[in-house]
Amino acid sequence: MADLTTFTITEAREKLQAGDITLRDLVQAYAKQIEEHNEEINAYVFLDIESALEQADEIQKKIENGTAGRLAGAIMGIKDVICERGKPTTCASNILENFESVYDATVIERLKAEDAVFLGRLNMDEFAMGSTNEYSRYGAARNPHDTTKVTGGSSGGSAAAVAGTMANATLGSDTGGSIRQPASYCGVVGLKPTYGRVSRYGLVAYASSFDSIGPLAHSVEDVANVLQVIAGFDDRDNTSSQVPCDDYVEVVKNPNKKIRIGVPEEFFGEGLDEEISASLKDVIKKLEAEGAELVPVELPHTKYGLATYYILATAEASSNLARFDGIRYGHRADKDQMLDELKAEENALKEAIKNADDEEKADLENQLARLDAPLARLYKKSRTEGFGNEVKRRIMLGTYVLSAGYYDAYYGKAQRVRRLIKEDYSKAFEKVDVIVTPTAPTTAFDIGSNLNDPVQMYLNDAYTITANLAGICGISVPVGKHSNGLPVGIQFLGDTFQESKVLNAARLVELLG
Ligand code: GLN
Repeated sequence: MADLTTFTITEAREKLQAGDITLRDLVQAYAKQIEEHNEEINAYVFLDIESALEQADEIQKKIENGTAGRLAGAIMGIKDVICERGKPTTCASNILENFESVYDATVIERLKAEDAVFLGRLNMDEFAMGSTNEYSRYGAARNPHDTTKVTGGSSGGSAAAVAGTMANATLGSDTGGSIRQPASYCGVVGLKPTYGRVSRYGLVAYASSFDSIGPLAHSVEDVANVLQVIAGFDDRDNTSSQVPCDDYVEVVKNPNKKIRIGVPEEFFGEGLDEEISASLKDVIKKLEAEGAELVPVELPHTKYGLATYYILATAEASSNLARFDGIRYGHRADKDQMLDELKAEENALKEAIKNADDEEKADLENQLARLDAPLARLYKKSRTEGFGNEVKRRIMLGTYVLSAGYYDAYYGKAQRVRRLIKEDYSKAFEKVDVIVTPTAPTTAFDIGSNLNDPVQMYLNDAYTITANLAGICGISVPVGKHSNGLPVGIQFLGDTFQESKVLNAARLVELLG
């Protein structure tokens, strides 16, 4: 029998039902794979194989008596930003070191109810801010196709765990591309649902008006299956939608070939790797030969996407992250040391004032008067120690664009541009079922190569970010390999609540082989 860890959920489920394997066998096969490869890949940052085996034994009984849920056979890892009761939820940040969630996110509850098994917590960029998984307190995750390359991010662990066959499905979160881009870099399928399709209850917020939770897996059908379980209204998330869900799995089983595919010029121009461009065009031609209609569409405000996103997302982040103050949970700076430092500063200033001339004195007295109160100093020190540099950069940017005097010029304007981007898409979707684009401008690059250039890093998100600005859905599906040996992904975007259409299109690509 083939290595159990290469099975899709559907395949595993068939074998389980036929009695060819047990769920314990399956979990043990993953445990072995993890033991052998996780140290290098660094996908999991916390493992609980014991409890996975216990879950497996419970579910096995249900398989045998015919009562198992639709995800019996799903062996999953969860991005460390989604709360799982009793397990660490650190968001790969020092500020949440040792934090354990006391409740399950809605998505976890729903997966549990359908008998998915959970192996552990997955690496990510700190608070989901990043495109490579390098900004993690646990260090970078590594791309299983070439361990000198990044996985993409921020759901790097989620993509690498599937690609490295250390899970057959994972959950990630996507605020500007964080499911689709790592899926593309690691050669797996990743879907970002419409904003409001999947409950965010229990997702640690990065940018609340952009965040969505979604699945990554080996096949489009597996992604559809997981989506089916996690999607749908939840009264604990007030942005959750009441729009009914389609039967996603059914769509994938019988995909429609006669779809209208929008092709936006704006996504195939400068900055896109030529070989990626050529191979995507080849796939698009094949889809046309199969019956799809290609329709040129215009998304003229795309060029403002990155700037708009990095204003709005950082603004929301600066506000969301204000709650991490080192008092209620997570990292707290050493109080006594802080008090000693404060006292020492105060004494030094007093001493200096004694010896100062009149001119210096006023300045020093001013400094003395402005010394932090102990509580403020504790917040500052805890946050200084707890957050990494990229998160600090985002908080500063976000605070700046929200500050009086700049608010209208940045935040207000960006809100208006967001509206224009949304309108571009609405107009395009009047003519087409899906829009096709590259997922990312390049394949996975060397670990470390973009770290000193934040703007270059942000450019990676150019093709994924506008979907989050518009709140629409998108999927990345592999289309084979670049001549450099690394996976290439194609992205389909769909209008709000049109997950069926992007799944349909992705399935057609899969069927091209
Ligand atoms: N790379 C983008 C950012 O750093 C998107 C991240 C995400 O989707 N979580 O903000």
